[in-house]
Amino acid sequence: MRRKLVAGNWKMNGSLEANARLLAALLELSAKESGSMKAEMAVCIPFPYLPQVAQLLQGSQIAWGAQTLSEFDSGAYTGEVSASMLSDFQCQYVIVGHSERRQVFKESNLQIAQKLRAAITAGLSPILCVGETLEERESGETLSVVYEQLDSVLNTLDPGSCEKLVIAYEPVWAIGTGKTAKPEQAQEIHAALRSRLSEFDKALAEMTPLLYGGSVKADNAESLFGQTDIDGGLIGGASLKAQDFIDICKAVA
Ligand code: PEP
Repeated sequence: MRRKLVAGNWKMNGSLEANARLLAALLELSAKESGSMKAEMAVCIPFPYLPQVAQLLQGSQIAWGAQTLSEFDSGAYTGEVSASMLSDFQCQYVIVGHSERRQVFKESNLQIAQKLRAAITAGLSPILCVGETLEERESGETLSVVYEQLDSVLNTLDPGSCEKLVIAYEPVWAIGTGKTAKPEQAQEIHAALRSRLSEFDKALAEMTPLLYGGSVKADNAESLFGQTDIDGGLIGGASLKAQDFIDICKAVA
């Protein structure tokens, strides 16, 4: 059985007060549902709130992580945060190569591969995001784009070091737009990604959780998560509302 995971990506949202409210609600609701929850839960939060979240979630069933990291270990990289700094705050997860990092901050496949390697070396579980833009989908390039994003990372790694790897397929046209991929559309790409992974390493392909992300809501989560190769979700907007996030987690069968 593969691990199931639902991770929230808070993006650049929150405040000490709002986080405390959201986390208290998540803790209360998740404790009520603990018997029926099949997925691990995690929240990926802005850097400054790591001490707060580590303190509030310590010992709970909700893990936490960051939304990016530096490819460097330490030194003269003003404004950057390293993998070992994330480990200091007991982060379990870190998102790598989110489409907003690729598009707004111009992160390249090479840089993303280096970041992912830094995460793995520090013992973090990287959530590697891949996905095509609308233009790429419409010109029939979806598979070549996601394969290139995946291959550029895998080519730098040894399969034996990838046991904590998580991959999220996030079509860029579905992120924050309210347009979700149809379950069959998402399944098609997930199956293709798993088969690409199996060319790298069969056992790894079987055990790696493949998440879907892009406008997942409580009312579409069940049909997406019901697909054979979808092992959970990466959730943006809906992860900021406790009841919605928990309902999405509960939709994992
Ligand atoms: C995301 O930011 O990874 C995401 C999937 O956002 P949303 O759920 O809001 O589309």
